[in-house]
Amino acid sequence: MNSPTPEAIALNAAIDEQLLKTVGVARQDATSTDLMKAVAQVAREQLSERWVQTQGADRDNKARRVYYLSMEFLIGRTLSNALGALRLTDAAMQGMTDHAHTLEEIVDQEPDAALGNGGLGRLAACFLDSMANLGLPSFGYGIRYEYGMFKQKIVGGAQTELPDPWLADGTPWEFPRADISFPVRFGGWVEHIGDRAVWRHAGEVVAKAYDMVVPGYGTKKVSTLRLWKAVAPADLDLQAFNTGDYGRAAQVKNEFENISWVLYPNDSTPAGRELRLRQEYFFVAASVRDILLRHMVEHGTLDNLHDFVAMHLNDTHPAIAVAELMHVLCDEHSMPWAKAWEICQKTFSYTNHTLMPEALETWPVGLMQHVLPRHLEIILRINAEFLALAAKHRPGDNGFLARLSLIDESGERRVRMANLSVVGSHMINGVSALHSDLLVKTLFADFASLWPERFTNMTNGITPRRWLSQANPGLATLLDKNIGPDWRNHLDQLKQVEAKQDDAAFRAEFMTIKHANKRRLAALIEKTTGIKVSPDSLFDVQIKRIHEYKRQLLNVLHVIWRYQAILASPDAQWVPRVTIFAGKAASSYMSAKSIIHLIHDVGNVINNDPRIGDKLKLVFIPNYGVSVAEVIMPGADLSEQISTAGTEASGTGNMKLALNGALTIGTDDGANIEIRENVGDDNIFIFGLRTPEVQAMKQGGYQPMRLYENNPGLKAVLDAIAGGQFSPNEPGRYRGLVDALLWGGDHYMLLADYASYIETQTRVDALYAQPEAWARKAIINMANMGSFSSDRTIAQYAKEIWNIPVAP
Ligand SMILES: *Cc1c(COP(=O)(O)O)cnc(C)c1O
Repeated sequence: MNSPTPEAIALNAAIDEQLLKTVGVARQDATSTDLMKAVAQVAREQLSERWVQTQGADRDNKARRVYYLSMEFLIGRTLSNALGALRLTDAAMQGMTDHAHTLEEIVDQEPDAALGNGGLGRLAACFLDSMANLGLPSFGYGIRYEYGMFKQKIVGGAQTELPDPWLADGTPWEFPRADISFPVRFGGWVEHIGDRAVWRHAGEVVAKAYDMVVPGYGTKKVSTLRLWKAVAPADLDLQAFNTGDYGRAAQVKNEFENISWVLYPNDSTPAGRELRLRQEYFFVAASVRDILLRHMVEHGTLDNLHDFVAMHLNDTHPAIAVAELMHVLCDEHSMPWAKAWEICQKTFSYTNHTLMPEALETWPVGLMQHVLPRHLEIILRINAEFLALAAKHRPGDNGFLARLSLIDESGERRVRMANLSVVGSHMINGVSALHSDLLVKTLFADFASLWPERFTNMTNGITPRRWLSQANPGLATLLDKNIGPDWRNHLDQLKQVEAKQDDAAFRAEFMTIKHANKRRLAALIEKTTGIKVSPDSLFDVQIKRIHEYKRQLLNVLHVIWRYQAILASPDAQWVPRVTIFAGKAASSYMSAKSIIHLIHDVGNVINNDPRIGDKLKLVFIPNYGVSVAEVIMPGADLSEQISTAGTEASGTGNMKLALNGALTIGTDDGANIEIRENVGDDNIFIFGLRTPEVQAMKQGGYQPMRLYENNPGLKAVLDAIAGGQFSPNEPGRYRGLVDALLWGGDHYMLLADYASYIETQTRVDALYAQPEAWARKAIINMANMGSFSSDRTIAQYAKEIWNIPVAP
């Protein structure tokens, strides 16, 4: 046994002290949860020091800062990440063995902070990590949801949703800022006194600040995630209280405080509920006030706001900030409208995350009038002035103006938040090369004709600290041995291991690590589903939100094809395969939930068919989230990125999997295209229609029924589903799913890509049967993922959009 290092001894002493002082247990009685809390306290103190230093330095330097406004931050757990950033991981490992526990076990006691739905929220978390790492003066601003993303529980093969009370036992990672709070107003009417507008609001709620410190790895700097909690004004319930009506007092209090209760479990359609609009305004109003106050303290005037403040809108959810800034500047600081508008446009920038029309956020004018009457007025004035300007570009073109308008006048009048975001920002970006190109050709074509220079691309990225260093310690150690540890801050350095594909010993080590990660994944599968899988099989992974455009159903069609093909040719040399799904469906999204049910039903049949054995298994790992992803990513051989071309804005799961040495089977969509350009055509499996072909086929009259009739294999698969082979107790259970393909137009064109997909899957088998060739390609994939570090993305945002210098 190695004798403990001085760091480990010091850390152990600090942990024992915290066990006693903050957790309140004796060392020998400490449970793994107690230890988690104690270690977290030790890390928290050191982070707190870094926070105070960073804040002081940024204040003294009067730094230009970026403020990243986002409804979602999907951070997951913090302990491992914090220990890594503080370089305490090794000492903590030693310390925990001393306490007769493993660090893994301790870390597992922390609940995920699931303050986001999926990719958009996880992107915000990776971005904060990179901002800290690059030492960028920065804040993330969001909502401190009492209940994060729902917990998914599978009951009888179907998804059920349970609440996620992640704060029930408190969290060691937040710093309540008792002295930082702002009133946020709602409702009422607007009075015009001369040329001044006065908002006579009907009610107000208090926003209280809670900070989470985001440590950098390459620097002692930190970033701050400031989350707002809604609290009823102190005097509110006094009256009800005094009259003894406690029930009424509690009810009134709840009506205010429910604003920060729950994250809307839906990342694709506007919830369309007043509470959601209130949430959006709530966190934006508090954030803008906080930002302006900080600016006033440092600069004493708002005239130069845009010189020191960059506010970024992560999708349209915070778009009301544009109207809020105008409201504060004009109504509260008496700034002339034109000057305020110029400052506003120079301050904001906006990232679009989707082209899908049903996911574009709009609010009924009537609802906006009811909740935010002054902001509606402001939006209408912005619109009138903007349309007058636009009319000069194309006189008489009313269609052009109708498309540009911030108000959708067809049917019930609605405010278009995407248009508000574009008009209020000096830069607008998409999240992959393809997506940004489609943005200016489709959704924002009219805006791009006015302001081509405002549109740009920022391809998404992921943080290598969490998604390689922390999630895959085996591979991280191999990299450290070969190229040193600096790849964590300079992911481009991975390119140096590309040549190692020719080194048989390196290949063997690389694949041994993969195998160990697959055993860890197999253990998770057994623990969560009871199903035993062999780590010698090809692990085929599709993990992401369940959505029709992501086409999990196409993957299921392939699994059923394979099942039938194995039964038809039991003696053929089948490459054993485990198809692994994980992901949540929005609770009201019936087709997505039906797909989850189908996966379970098909899995039940295949996994229990003695003729199949290990040749094929189908599993669904429940409750997908960041911590589950950290186990699945390193254990994957094949990464399924099979959205209909033109629908996935970027994807980041594709990057995490390739970085961990999985090969991609994917369509020509989102960032898959850039992954292909980086790893090379020979090291990725691209199939199916490309975006222009999808568009052409839709226009030419797509006939899915023809494909069904002309492809006997496809017909057999769909007939098996529709005929109830996988749901004998309810044969009609999946009629709807199949009918949507055959009779409903197959909106996402699964059948058009089916043959190409199956053919490509057989090429995957052929390659996997040659382990050395597979290993080479896996190494090439990992080695060429350097440009998908979120450090690259954030450096690009800082330089080209936010205009903040970063040290090279
Ligand atoms: C990366 C990630 C996503 C995004 O996955 P996509 O495949 O890009 O849709 C969603 N959820 C979690 C938990 C993630 O870590």
